Amino acid sequence: MFKNNLLLISLSLVIFVSCKVDYTFRKNQSPKNIILLISDGVGLSQISSAYFYKNEPVNYSRFNDIGLIETFSSNKDITDSAASATAFATGEKTYNGAIGVSKDFKPVNNLIELASLKGVKTGLVSTSSITHATPASFFAHTINRDFQDEIAMQLSKSEVDYFAGGGINFFKNRKDNINVIDTLKSNGFSVKLDRLDLFDNIESNNKQCFILAADGMPKITEGRGSFLKDATILGVKFLSKKNKPFFLMSEGSQIDWGGHDNDANYVITELIDFDEMIGAVLDFAERDGETLVIVTSDHETGGFTLAGKKYVQKNNYSIDYNDLDPVFSTSGHSATLIPVFAYGPGSEEFRGIYDNTDIFNKILKVTNWGN
Ligand code: MG
Ligand code: ZN
Repeated sequence: MFKNNLLLISLSLVIFVSCKVDYTFRKNQSPKNIILLISDGVGLSQISSAYFYKNEPVNYSRFNDIGLIETFSSNKDITDSAASATAFATGEKTYNGAIGVSKDFKPVNNLIELASLKGVKTGLVSTSSITHATPASFFAHTINRDFQDEIAMQLSKSEVDYFAGGGINFFKNRKDNINVIDTLKSNGFSVKLDRLDLFDNIESNNKQCFILAADGMPKITEGRGSFLKDATILGVKFLSKKNKPFFLMSEGSQIDWGGHDNDANYVITELIDFDEMIGAVLDFAERDGETLVIVTSDHETGGFTLAGKKYVQKNNYSIDYNDLDPVFSTSGHSATLIPVFAYGPGSEEFRGIYDNTDIFNKILKVTNWGN
């Protein structure tokens, strides 16, 4: 009897051990899903600020596959968000201001157009207006980033299945009097203009969008709350229903705006909000095992530096290495190399130093969405 019990115990132990979920992904496996997280205007110093100003553990530390990209555009050493996001979305080196077009103004196929041909569900989240340069480069084709009315119209007719961000101004009360909210609806979108919803309430919808501010979303310091994380995770659930593969681009848009304002508190609070979203996305990817997460930025903004505080005494000055006083060297963008972090099947592909257009090339290489 004792012997039988022992056998039973050891048998169930074997079953228990073999049923334990393996949370680690297999290397060299093709990812089913891609989540691309873009922190607009973030270089190494902005990321470093999380290590000094965030009270909880920093989610950037959870990546092992890390690389760097060059970000120059076809006409400038220093890129803007439009040219760099077009590089990510289409693999095309183009001019500052271009949205999804080449340097000779021709529309170029983007990841969302290519992936949707393969039955991949696609989505976008941003804390700017959804028609702003970074998200726009993933669905629109315009020769100028300022054509946000036209970009909104193109979004309503695009393959995109889910989006969340600001920008109501570009969908209604427009100069041309076209109500693009109606166009969204007639093209299959369920539209919400007040707040995010529970997954259960949107699950049966074909396409879903949330346009929650007149232009950009509020700053994190002005009450945006956990919108970025929540809209991203809601998008993951919506796009992956019925076990479909998906592509989701989610942007922390306003880190760049803090850089332009030379406002260190704006930069750091937005960066920490972005890091919170990284954490939620990595939690999903670890459970899922088939999702490749890529985190990068279009360019650095502000020439941001975590300098020590300067003290002037008589005619000399000293610097306190134990009292950080972040400073900026420009109100514009800078040309520094930009970090790339990757987790999941195919992540090893993103090591090394390469061009921003290779983000697109590498995504197509690991997914085969281009063939
Ligand atoms: Mg942006
Ligand atoms: Zn900028």
